[in-house]
This record gives sequence, C-alpha cells and structure tokens, in this order.
Amino acid sequence: MGLKIWSTFLADFLRQCGGYAVIDGGLATELERHGADLNDPLWSAKCLVSSPHLIRRVHLDYLEAGANIIISSSYQATLQGFEEKGISREEGEALLKRSVEIAREARNIYNDRAAKGSWDDFADGLSNLKCRPVLVAASVGSYGAYLADGSEYSGIYGDAISVKTLKDFHRRRVQVLANSGADLIAFETTPNKMEAQAYAELLEEEAINIPAWFSFSSKDGTNVVGGDSMLECASIADSCKQVTGIGINCTPPRYIQGLIQSIRKVTSKPIIVYPNSGETYDGEKKEWVASTGVAEEDFVSYVDKWCEAGVSLIGGCCRTTPKTIRAISKVLSSRSHRV
Ligand SMILES: [Zn+2]
Repeated sequence: MGLKIWSTFLADFLRQCGGYAVIDGGLATELERHGADLNDPLWSAKCLVSSPHLIRRVHLDYLEAGANIIISSSYQATLQGFEEKGISREEGEALLKRSVEIAREARNIYNDRAAKGSWDDFADGLSNLKCRPVLVAASVGSYGAYLADGSEYSGIYGDAISVKTLKDFHRRRVQVLANSGADLIAFETTPNKMEAQAYAELLEEEAINIPAWFSFSSKDGTNVVGGDSMLECASIADSCKQVTGIGINCTPPRYIQGLIQSIRKVTSKPIIVYPNSGETYDGEKKEWVASTGVAEEDFVSYVDKWCEAGVSLIGGCCRTTPKTIRAISKVLSSRSHRV
C-alpha cells in the first residue's frame, strides 16, 4: 500500500467546518487550575500517570468552548524522559498511546452529550452544544522541550546536535503516535530549521501514514526563536508531503501578523496560529512572568486580522483558557457563515 497524499487533509477538514477551525488552548494552565501539580520535568505528561481524568476534563472544557481540534497531552512526553523516571520503554509507549486515547475519550463523551442534548456539567455550554467535526492531534514537542532547560525558547541546541541526532531522538515516539488512533501529528513550538528538517526527513523515512502540521515559535515576528527565518522554516514544511498545515504557536500575539506574511509567501497549505497569552516565560525560574500579556479582548481583536491575512485555524497556547477559545470560536463561527 502506497503512502496517501496528506497535504490536502486539513484543507478538506476546513471545508467541513465552513472555512475556519478552532484549536484548543493551553493545557498546563488548566490542569493546574483543576488541582494538578506540574512541578516536574515531565510537566503535563506527569498527569498521564497521576491523573488522566483531569486531562480528559480539560479536553472536554475546550470542546465545550468550541474547539474543532484538541491536542493530546504528549508535548513533553518522551520515551527518554519516561526512562529517566524509571518508566520502561514498553510502559512509556503505552503512556504515549494513552495520551491520544484520553483525547479520543473526551471527543466521544462530547459527541454523546451533544447528541443527547444534555450538558448538565457545564452551566453555560448550551450555545456550543452541537455535534461538529473534531480532530485529535498528537502533540510532539521539540528536543528542547525534553531538555526542560528553556532551550525550546532559545532554539540553541549546541554543536553536538545534528539532524541525525534529532531524528533518532524523535523516531520511536513519532512511530508510536502515528499508530495511536490520532488523526494527525502536531509538531509544536519548533525552534529552528534543523528540527523542522529532522521532522520532514523522519516522516518520509518512516513512511508515516498520517498527516502532520509543523508549528514554529518566534520572539520577533520575522525569525523563529533559534534565529532561522520563518520563511526558510515554512519552506521546509511546505515541501514535505505529509505536512498538511504550517503555523505558529507559543508566540506573543503582537508578532503573529508578520510571520503569517512570511509563511504565505512559500505555501498554499492552510495556516495555523495558536499564540500564547503574550506573557514571557522565564526558563531559569520555570515560571511565567505576568504583566506583559494582552487582555482576553485584545487577543480576540487580532483574530479577524489574522483571518484577513490568510489564517484558517486559530487557537491558543500557553496561558490561554477555555474563555479565550470560546471567544475565538465566536469570531470564527461568525466568519464561517460568510463563507
Ligand atoms: Zn505554549
């Protein structure tokens, strides 16, 4: 059986959704709000072991807020990271699959409730209470996310790291997630073009037979965090057959507009944007520095501009909440009607 051509997968999905799709928001922030303790290098992946019900709850909150795409809790879940915690290869692979299963369970629960028309658990959920197409994306964080030393936000991996090292690092996790029942793989917060190249080669070498999106982060509006130009990174993504969308995540809203223009120059694949709240992350202290963020209303005021610039999938990354997603969903559904 040959490889399917996956490049139009998201474009087809967008047509089902009426032109625009809503991505979910931050996971860690919400897990903490529900009482999870994430003070661990495995971060939200720790909940896979200790409290999967909380993860399912957060997925459900986002579906209820209008999300069409929910992203699994595997961002920082790596087989190497699990092994360092005494979790065997076999158990680690089971946990990766579990992260996708939990998201799929949330989708089933959502669809059941929507079909029955009962939404007792959610006081103000009635407006979004309808069956709609939902995708489960399996998250893959960068090598820097595994290091948990803030290098995902600098993109600087040092001379010892090559495309080959990165491919070997990601290989098994990508294989496992490709066979986990997820609809696509979301490569998130990619900090440099070397890692994008590694992903593209890996997808091809391993003949990964589900679609993927590549999403990059930036702290200046022109380059990704490691200093490579957004344009170059988007070109690498564009030339990969399995890549069905290209985007920007975990980046302050004020930088997004310029980055969209760079991506637009090199691809006709759908453009994905899910920024953080605009606050900055202190990699040393491992905490978010408040006060530099934008208010919810400001965040949402960008949505129309991003759509005008050619974006069709919008959500939120770190420090965004179901409230943010509900607001985005409102804007996008009013635009959808005009399609
Ligand atoms: Zn983020």
